[in-house]
Amino acid sequence: MTVKGKVALVTGSTSGIGLAIATAMAQAGADVMLNGFGDAAAIETLRGNLARSAGVRVGYSAADMSKAEQVAGLVAETERQFGRLDVLVNNAGVQHTANVEDFPPERWEAILSINLSSSFYAIRAALPGMKRRGFGRIINIASVHGLVASVQKAAYVAAKHGLIGLTKVVALETARTPVTCNAICPGFVLTPLVEKQILDRAQRDGVPQEEAKVRLLSEKMPSAEAVAPEALAQLALYLCSPAADQIRGAALPVDGAWTAQ
Ligand code: NAD
Repeated sequence: MTVKGKVALVTGSTSGIGLAIATAMAQAGADVMLNGFGDAAAIETLRGNLARSAGVRVGYSAADMSKAEQVAGLVAETERQFGRLDVLVNNAGVQHTANVEDFPPERWEAILSINLSSSFYAIRAALPGMKRRGFGRIINIASVHGLVASVQKAAYVAAKHGLIGLTKVVALETARTPVTCNAICPGFVLTPLVEKQILDRAQRDGVPQEEAKVRLLSEKMPSAEAVAPEALAQLALYLCSPAADQIRGAALPVDGAWTAQ
């Protein structure tokens, strides 16, 4: 197994895509550092269950990815607890939808810091150790919204386009090293982040949630099928394998042909 014995840090891994990636990394034999918000007791249960079922060490930090010093602290804490950091998955993200002229500046700032700047601070802190130890995989969870735009998502689209730009720069700066950096660009994935958009859509159109889901998905995804978080986790694992050594600076869509249009 490609990540057996390695150490993976997945930001925003108490829910959704991050949790699926952290689970797959642990099941493939990596020690995992979890991060994200949620009920403390539920997170402790999750941490314990994952450690037991996968037979690896699993840590947890509540570091806030909107705070630069806490992001750097999370990388340092992972290296301290596990002795190394081999796989960094920048996944923490939030969403807010509104037209530009109604977009609250504090939501803009929060989305830019959590969805973009946190990746810069984490990569900045993780790179020296990865280069020194001679192995590193940096995987940024971007979005189709890093490649194309949608209305009412100014901050999210700007942050995700920025994240793909950051991915390319890091890939160039590490091109002659054993560290790779890539972005994964999912279409709709049914997680709490999207469930809120389905609820909003149901309210706006005055239709049941199931119908709102079909409308939201089929508007953008020709497949009309959501992406499974586990499928994204398998791609992340593949990017950690030797076969992916020369996949560098790529923005990989997993989007039911959304960006093929
Ligand atoms: P989610 O809401 O299920 O999970 C988000 C995670 O980030 C949670 O663990 C949450 O606690 C954590 N988080 C939020 N703010 C944080 C902060 N300040 N500090 C630390 N952790 C924080 O969302 P998801 O859908 O799994 O999204 C994960 C990533 O995937 C995001 O970057 C998102 O933009 C991206 N993405 C999601 C979709 C989708 O359709 N769901 C599509 C494309 C990309």
